[in-house]
Amino acid sequence: MATWRLRRAAAAIAASSAVVAAGAAWPSASASDPFPAALEAARRRVAQPGAAPPPRAAQRAALAGSTPADPLDVLVVGGGATGCGVALDAATRGLRVGLVEREDFSSGTSSRSTKLIHGDESVELFPTLAKNSHDRSLRGTVVYYDGQMNDSRLNVGLACTAAVVGAAILNYAEVVSLIKDESGERIIGARIRDTLSDVLSAWSGIRPLAMDPSAKNTESISRDHVVFEDYPGLITITGGKWTTYRSMAEDAVNAAIRSGNLKPANGCVTDHLHILGGYGWDPASFTVLAQNYKRMKRTYGGKIIPGAMDSAVSKHLSHAYGTLATQVASIAQNEGLGKRLAHGYPFLEAEVAYCARHEYCESAVDFIARRCRLAFLDTDAAGRALPRIIEILALERKWDKARQKLELQKGKDFLETFKSSKNAQFRDGKHNGQ
Ligand SMILES: Cc1cc2nc3c(=O)[nH]c(=O)nc-3n(C[C@H](O)[C@H](O)[C@H](O)COP(=O)(O)OP(=O)(O)OC[C@H]3O[C@@H](n4cnc5c(N)ncnc54)[C@H](O)[C@@H]3O)c2cc1C
Repeated sequence: MATWRLRRAAAAIAASSAVVAAGAAWPSASASDPFPAALEAARRRVAQPGAAPPPRAAQRAALAGSTPADPLDVLVVGGGATGCGVALDAATRGLRVGLVEREDFSSGTSSRSTKLIHGDESVELFPTLAKNSHDRSLRGTVVYYDGQMNDSRLNVGLACTAAVVGAAILNYAEVVSLIKDESGERIIGARIRDTLSDVLSAWSGIRPLAMDPSAKNTESISRDHVVFEDYPGLITITGGKWTTYRSMAEDAVNAAIRSGNLKPANGCVTDHLHILGGYGWDPASFTVLAQNYKRMKRTYGGKIIPGAMDSAVSKHLSHAYGTLATQVASIAQNEGLGKRLAHGYPFLEAEVAYCARHEYCESAVDFIARRCRLAFLDTDAAGRALPRIIEILALERKWDKARQKLELQKGKDFLETFKSSKNAQFRDGKHNGQ
């Protein structure tokens, strides 16, 4: 158990390929951007070739190093869309930020969404529709544009981006209680338990609707978010949706700054900042992977043979990792980890090693559920891939035989929840993990 301290007047926030060449250019912050110097500094860190978050041990040490003499400005509780968005926002304002997530990033609601980013609406007139008929007049029609996204990978990307710009983020670390100052008037810290050796596999997934306290009936429950200070020093943000995580984070950090009388170096810049792997990416980036990399595959006899980086694999890598796909492709080529993990799916062995090294992937379930999502696409294929995934993770994490056996059992138990009524929300016809 560790105790992490906040500044006396700080705040805790609870939140329910183109190969990028060295010195690659991206649009520089212009004078019309808000806080151009801060934005440019953040862009440089996120867009640098090979940008990678610090390892977990370094993050843990950074958090544990927060003392009354050298405290955090903001401690974020929860590593879903909201919490990771808050950590990224606060860190890019120059605040000293920690984030703890009791399970894996996006293991809560944020990996169980319908994966739609609700777009803007526009009012348009359709000339083929009658504008005037029987005393009725068509004034216009509302057209909504929705986008599809991979929620858990976006969440992991946000967590890693926050880490790259300086937030100390830690999965498998649970806030078990909050610490008040001597007068009992303000939250000044939290007790955290590192749960890595005791990973839970509990599910949740209740849409966090925000309730307006003055509402007269349930119809006025909105999907908008609410930010409030439950107790001096403790800001809670609840409600909202994936689509609005960025502006929710901005509101929460503004509230924390007010509550803690914090002195950020600059205002919010996240509206103009891409996440890791976003700079330099364009839809044709996958062709560069296909042309420049081979998938070196180890045969059962131990020989390494070359295979093509076919378009299914290169498209998948490019979409999942952005420009960082080149790092995954390098591992596939240089370390003989170019085999597919499951027949018919584009996921590669190299991804397991990459996610362990650079995406805080701490267990086999983290990989099949939230780094590649094979568990959601094909439970049986995920089950068949588990032994190889565990073999690769065992090398990365130096797991002994007992830990490998445990990982296999946990992976099987997890996949079993997809087949039984234990996890009914995935069997309702809507949440089939596309
Ligand atoms: C079925 C469903 C479909 C949806 N579809 C969409 C959609 O299509 N589009 C859209 O925009 N939005 C959608 N949403 C809404 C969106 O998914 C949520 O608004 C968003 O994921 C909430 O993120 P969050 O970070 O607030 O919560 P969560 O993702 O639940 O994160 C909270 C985290 O806090 C952690 N935590 C809790 N207590 C502690 C503690 N003591 N210490 C450390 N960590 C702790 C939990 O482990 C959890 O990971 C949907 C929601 C649901 C339920």
